[in-house]
Amino acid sequence: MQSTHLSPSTLLYEGKAKQLFLTDDPQVLWVRYKDDATAFNGQKFDRLLGKGVLNNLISAQIFKDLADFGIPSHFIDRVSDIEQLVRRVEIIPLEVVVRNVVAGSLAKRLGWEEGRSLKQPIVEFYYKNDDLGDPLLTENHIDLLDLATTQEIKELREGALQINDFLTKRFSKIDLQLVDFKLEFGRQPDGSLILADEISPDTCRLWDGKTNEKMDKDRFRRNLGGLVEAYQEVWNRLHVGKDA
Ligand code: ADP
Ligand code: MG
Repeated sequence: MQSTHLSPSTLLYEGKAKQLFLTDDPQVLWVRYKDDATAFNGQKFDRLLGKGVLNNLISAQIFKDLADFGIPSHFIDRVSDIEQLVRRVEIIPLEVVVRNVVAGSLAKRLGWEEGRSLKQPIVEFYYKNDDLGDPLLTENHIDLLDLATTQEIKELREGALQINDFLTKRFSKIDLQLVDFKLEFGRQPDGSLILADEISPDTCRLWDGKTNEKMDKDRFRRNLGGLVEAYQEVWNRLHVGKDA
């Protein structure tokens, strides 16, 4: 696709971490990664200089790696240090979460210690709805809310697990444990589903393989400091030997 001539026009949507702009191509959006960090449904907020650059780099690299592996996404090209072009989709308002190790809300829900490995990866669906606080949904709830068909739910689950297989190995090679992560998918004009949004340390839990140190947004949620340094380290490990 010819994308180099495109430039951002009208701001379509401003989220917590990114801005989406229209371009001259109705099928293509211009995404700008912000330095803003939010947690607990926006109640905690800060601006962390350099986070946008790193999430843009990391997300672009992971989308490229997934494409090389045969898993397509909305990603087209990175066009600046904080910007990328993506194919416009109709986002399904579900946060598709894959977990390999107990952390965060799963620790609370099951009463299990953080850090316990699950016997197999699990997939959870959360309703992407700030007013409701992004609640966990069952497949019956998804059906009642008319968010996705049974066939689509199956595709989302299988797609998410396939992505988990790839990412778990990709991160393990650079000594990072993929604890859990969140995906968003969208519908393309022909109705098919495709991976969208971002994959970054804002949306993954990554623990150092040796020290178990948190290398993700939990550094912000839990006031640990050093978030940008941790994201920089993830990027350093991720692009060794790559030409990005
Ligand atoms: P949020 O605060 O909702 O998490 P973000 O700042 O992370 O928002 O991202 C902006 C919005 O862009 C999100 O609502 C996300 O669902 C949406 N989005 C991501 N990729 C695409 C795409 N390819 N087409 C349309 N919308 C997208
Ligand atoms: Mg988001």
